[in-house]
Formats: sequence, C-alpha cells, structure tokens
Amino acid sequence: MAEYGEDDFLLLSGIQHFSFCPRQWALIHIEGLWSENFFTASGRVLHAKAHDGDAVEKRGDTVVARSLKIFSNNLGISGECDVVEFHKSADGVPLRNYEGLWLPYPVEYKRGKSKLDDCDRLQLCAQAVCLEEMLCCQISKGALFYGEPRRRETVEFSLELRDKVKDITESMHKLFSQKFTPKAKTDKRCAGCSLIDECVPRLFKNVRADVKKYLEDNIE
Ligand code: SF4
Repeated sequence: MAEYGEDDFLLLSGIQHFSFCPRQWALIHIEGLWSENFFTASGRVLHAKAHDGDAVEKRGDTVVARSLKIFSNNLGISGECDVVEFHKSADGVPLRNYEGLWLPYPVEYKRGKSKLDDCDRLQLCAQAVCLEEMLCCQISKGALFYGEPRRRETVEFSLELRDKVKDITESMHKLFSQKFTPKAKTDKRCAGCSLIDECVPRLFKNVRADVKKYLEDNIE
C-alpha cells in the first residue's frame, strides 16, 4: 500500500464529494471552486452544533471528543471528526487522563435524511481507517447522525466499504497529481449539486450534441 507524506495529504471530506461526482470533487479540490446553496449552508449549521461544547468530556462509560484531527499515511488524507465517542471496552486503547481501555466510535453529523448511495458511509469509514492507523486498534462500526429525522444510523465498516475508500482515495490522488478535472456526466444528481452554475453540465451536453451533429452533417 502506498505511503503518503504530509505534503501529499488530501482532504478527507473530499471522499464524499468524489463519490457523489468526481467532477464536483475536482472543481472544489483541484480548481478551488465552491458555491454555497441551501444544502451546504444547512449542513454547515448542523456541523457547527456538533462542534459546540467542550473538546473532551466524560459521560458515564463514554468519553466524548469533538473536532478531533485525524490523518492516514496509507490513504494520504487528513481531516477532522465531528465527534469520536470512546466506549469502555477490553478491545480498546489507553487514553490519557482516563483509566481503562476505550474503543473509538466515530459519529458524523449530516444534513437531511439517510442517503441511498454510500457517500456519507464512505466518509465515516475513512475516519475509522484514520483512527485505526493513529491509535493502533480495530474499529468495526460508527454512526451517522441525520438532521431529518434526528436519528442515528449505525454503519458497519465492512471490507467492501474499506476497499471502496481505498479505491476512491487512489483515484483522488491520481487526478490531483495530473490536475485533471473529469468531464460532466449529467444526471439527476446535478439538480442538488452546489456547483451546477460553475460546472454548467448543460453546456457539455450541448457541446456533445453539436459535435455529433457537425460530424454527422459532414460525413453525409
Ligand atoms: S453539476 Fe452534475 S456533473 Fe457538474 S459537478 Fe455537479 S453533479 Fe457533477
């Protein structure tokens, strides 16, 4: 497995963008474009609430850490966890200032409802992989907390999910090193995309249609 240096780290949060649409990821992370819409603004408010409070606190048999900085040399990513709960467990790791062993359990706050695609689950799994690498432990599950309705969804970090995270981060590094932005592939995702104005997917559609017509006319 490739080992990346700190200078090569990409943002962990980009995994969610990349799995939604590789072009969207490239527009944000390679070309530096960002556009706020209702979805991104409400997501930001929900995250701010998750980060509100003491950085570390103990609640019964759980130590709660907020805004924990994380990284993985194997994946070449770095970022921040909204919340990591450390549950008292014989399979856990020692924590400074707390007696016993504690197993990390990442919790990520998300706007809206649980999604059919895996983009949120992939981001959470990447957080678990970072924590495993940093703390030398094995994390089998974590949770996504959705704003509508306000509830937690447990996510199992299966081999399949871990492989997808690895494939995505490899693709991100490849595109980033080539500074390559993939072409738009228009579909129903575009309606909810915060970069629809910058991406102008309709333009791509028209260009393709125009080129096709030009070729057909000239061949005839
Ligand atoms: S508008 Fe569509 S093709 Fe363009 S970045 Fe967004 S999702 Fe991707």
